[in-house]
Amino acid sequence: MSKVTALLSLLLFKELLALSGNFWHITDLHWDGTYNLTNHPEYICASSGNRPATDAGKFGHYVCDSPWSLINSSVYAMKAILPDPDFIVWTGDDTPHVPNEDLGEEEVLHIISTLTHLLNEVFPDTKVYSALGNHDYHPKNQLPAAPNRIYDQIADLWRDWLDPESRETFKKGGYYTEKLLNQTGLRMIVLNTNLYYDQNDLTKGMYDPAGQFSWMDQVLRDAANNNEKVYIVGHIPPGFFEKKRNKAWFTPKFNKIYLDLIQNYHSVILGQFFGHHHTDSFRMFYNSEGSPISTMFLGPGVTPWKTTLPGVKNGANNPGIRAVEYDAETLQVKDIVTYYLNLSRANAARAGWEKEYRLTESFRVPDASPASMHQVLKRIANEHCYLQKYYEFNSVSYDLTECGADCRVDHVCAAREVDFDKYKSCLADGGATAMHGGLIPMILFAIAIWSLH
Ligand SMILES: [Zn+2]
Ligand SMILES: [Zn+2]
Repeated sequence: MSKVTALLSLLLFKELLALSGNFWHITDLHWDGTYNLTNHPEYICASSGNRPATDAGKFGHYVCDSPWSLINSSVYAMKAILPDPDFIVWTGDDTPHVPNEDLGEEEVLHIISTLTHLLNEVFPDTKVYSALGNHDYHPKNQLPAAPNRIYDQIADLWRDWLDPESRETFKKGGYYTEKLLNQTGLRMIVLNTNLYYDQNDLTKGMYDPAGQFSWMDQVLRDAANNNEKVYIVGHIPPGFFEKKRNKAWFTPKFNKIYLDLIQNYHSVILGQFFGHHHTDSFRMFYNSEGSPISTMFLGPGVTPWKTTLPGVKNGANNPGIRAVEYDAETLQVKDIVTYYLNLSRANAARAGWEKEYRLTESFRVPDASPASMHQVLKRIANEHCYLQKYYEFNSVSYDLTECGADCRVDHVCAAREVDFDKYKSCLADGGATAMHGGLIPMILFAIAIWSLH
C-alpha cells in the first residue's frame, strides 16, 4: 500500500469511527433490599411472596427481585464492557414487587436515590436519560398528572442529568425533552407513559394527562420543522405483552393517541427504547400502506423476577443489559448487543456477564432500521429456527423450551400490531397476514374485492 492510500484509508476509518456511537440501555433493576441467604427458602426475599427460593445464591434467584450484588455487578459489567458510552438510557422500575404497605414514600425515594448514586459513581461523566417506571412511585402505578412531592424529589436526585427546563416539565408531569447531548439537530424525548397505564386510577378519565400528549405533539412538530432527529424513551410500552395473549397496558384511547403520534411524526423518530416487560422484544409501527416506519426496542430487565401475572407460564428471565450502536449523526440504530448473566451458573461461580447475541448477526440483517426489523419479524414469523432463537432471547436465555404454534402467534402479533384492533385480527388469522411480503397478499386482496362485485 502506498503512503497516500494508507493515509486515505486512515482518514476514512477515522470518519467511520466518528459517525458510530453507542449507548447503554438498562431497565427494571427492581432492587430488593430484603434478600438474605440465611433465611428459610420461602423468606429469602420479600418479592418472592413466599414462593420458595430453592438454591438461591449470591446474585439472586428467579423468584426474587435483584439483590444488591446483582445490581452492583450489572452496573460494573457495563463499566467493564463499554466504559465510555455516549450516554445511558435508564427506563425505570427501581423498587421490588412487594405490597404497597411494605414500601412507603420514603423507602421508594431511598431506593431511587441509591440506584441514582451508584450510576453516578460508576459513570460520573456520562449523561443519563432517565424515565419513571410504574414502580417508581408510592403507591405503585398511581403516578399523578400533576406536581407532587415525589416528582419534585426525583427531579432533585437527577439534577445533574436534567437541564433547567427539563426539571420544570419533570416536576409537572414526570417527562422532559432535551437536545441529545446538547447537539443541534438531535433530540431526546423522555416520557412518563405510566400516565396511560390502565392500572392508574388517577388518569383514567382524563383526555390528556399532564398535557403530555399535546406537549409531545408540539415537540415533534418543532423537531420536524427544525429537521431534528429524535429518540423516544419511556417505561410502559403501548401494544400487547407477548407472553400473555390480549394483555395490553395502555387504555385503548391512550394507545390510539400514542400510535397516531408515531405515525404522524415517524420521519423524525429514529428509535424508541422502553422497558417494563423484563423480556427482550420489539414492536413494529407501520404506515397506512403497510410499510415499516418505526421500531420500539424493549430492553430486558436486570431483575430475574418470575412474574406472578396469571396465565404466564415460567415468566422469569436472566438479568440482561444492552449496548445500542447508532449513527451519531443520523441517529439510525445500527445494531444491538445484549449482554447477560446466566443466574444459576453465576451463583455456582461458573459464569459472569457475557455477550448473549448481536442482533445483525443472529437475524442476518444489515442494521436495526425499521426495514431490517421488519425482515427480522418476517423471519421469526416464517422460519421456525428464527422463531426459536428469538424466543430464547426473549427470556434472556432462561426459557429454552420449544415455542409452538400458539406461542408463535402471541409473539408475532404482539411485535407486529401495536393497534388493538389490528392485533385482534392478527390473532384471528394466526399471524399470517403481511408476513409473506407485499405481492401475494395484494393479489389475494384484489381477487377478494373483485369476487365481491
Ligand atoms: Zn419492572
Ligand atoms: Zn414496570
